[in-house]
Parts: sequence; structure tokens; C-alpha cells
Amino acid sequence: MGRWSNEPFTMLLKMLKEELLSDDADLPNTYYGANKVIQNLRLSYERIDACRNDCMLYWKEDNLLDSCKVCGESRWKVEKRNREAKNKKGKKVTSKVIYVFKDIFSNDMPS
Ligand SMILES: [Zn+2]
Repeated sequence: MGRWSNEPFTMLLKMLKEELLSDDADLPNTYYGANKVIQNLRLSYERIDACRNDCMLYWKEDNLLDSCKVCGESRWKVEKRNREAKNKKGKKVTSKVIYVFKDIFSNDMPS
């Protein structure tokens, strides 16, 4: 999430193990090991855009909408002078995103 590269993440794991946790703590040793644990649990996540007022998700048939069906708020982040914010690649920026662990909510979303 913090866009750390593998090496500092591995260093953090090492520090946690050596300095903070007891010897029998079951923490992976490396970035690779930590990733492996997540994969084994199958906790991959999906980003879903949401209304900034939490009315709805831009999901399934609503995925193409540009504004909220409930409150009418724009899906996109707006900068000063009402211009839509763009990222470095020139794409519009969503005002709110939620992360859903895929296999927990594989078919049905919480309403
Ligand atoms: Zn809304």
C-alpha cells in the first residue's frame, strides 16, 4: 500500500522479528514470504469506486456511471474552479475508492 519496495519491507519484517516479537512469533521473513501468505489465504483485493457520500458503489451495471444515482454527486474528484482532477496518465481520479477482499465477497456485495 505504501509503495515500499521489497527490500525495506523485508528489513521491517526482520526488525519486527528481532526487536519486538518473541522468538516463536510466526511472521514471514521476507516480502516474498509475506506475499505468499496473502496468496495462500487468497486475500486478493479489488478496488471499487464509491460515492463520496457513501450512497452507492460504481459496481456491476453501475460501473459506467459518472455521478451518484442517489445524491447526484460526481464520481470524480474535482479540483479548484470545478475542473476534474487528472492523474499523471491523464485519467480522471475517483473521489472515493473502497477495497474489497475478493474471495470474501466473491459474488454478492454487502448492501
Ligand atoms: Zn451519493
